[in-house]
Amino acid sequence: MSWVDTHCHLQLDGRPPGELLGRATDVDWVVVPGVDAESSAASLALSREFQGQVLATAGLHPHEASTWPHQRTAIEDMARQVSAIGETGLDFYRHLAPAEDQETSFRDHIAIARELGKPIVVHCRDAFSAVHTIVEETGVGPQTILHCWTGGRRWTRRFLDLGVTFSFAGPVAFETGETIRLAAELVPPERALVETDTPYLAPPPHRGEQNEPAWVEYVGAALAKVWALPEGEVASITSANAARVFGK
Ligand SMILES: [Zn+2]
Repeated sequence: MSWVDTHCHLQLDGRPPGELLGRATDVDWVVVPGVDAESSAASLALSREFQGQVLATAGLHPHEASTWPHQRTAIEDMARQVSAIGETGLDFYRHLAPAEDQETSFRDHIAIARELGKPIVVHCRDAFSAVHTIVEETGVGPQTILHCWTGGRRWTRRFLDLGVTFSFAGPVAFETGETIRLAAELVPPERALVETDTPYLAPPPHRGEQNEPAWVEYVGAALAKVWALPEGEVASITSANAARVFGK
């Protein structure tokens, strides 16, 4: 079986990336999203060190959106060299930056992705309506990746209509993840990706521990249950989706 972990912050983890990749024996390749200029540069460096095994992204997390005017040039300079733009998006749960700043940064990221024909990695937390509006106006279809999807059935249906790709993380496997599992039922496997969001959100049986790419299989196993498919099939479908969406 081989998986693709489409969202793991190896550069923010603290442990040696080579070690984490080395023990993820069932993981073919990973995407390491940047959350600001510095971590995007670190992601780019990892993609050069682990060529073929690590894809880089460049972007500014919505938590930091107020710093977009200062970080924009550096991120734009990296945009051509990376595989995807982001992570960007809107977070009205922690709301660490004013909504207007988050929306400006998000829209600018989408414009960069459109111009370069690259996928965009979108963080959406308690901001379904606003993200939907912006993606509907300007999104890049299947290359719009809703990372760590936590929407319920209603929002899942509405986003399905926009043709986006859904990436599932640890919460789909949590005991409390019933709403997400019910939503995942609606998502055709060929529109889905799996991720760990390392170092966060470790799935059971490792909940509460520091997450790592090797554990993406538990996310895949939860989806296999939801879709009543063999795990091997979920691994090959989601891996093929990842290759298509990220242009690998
Ligand atoms: Zn992330």
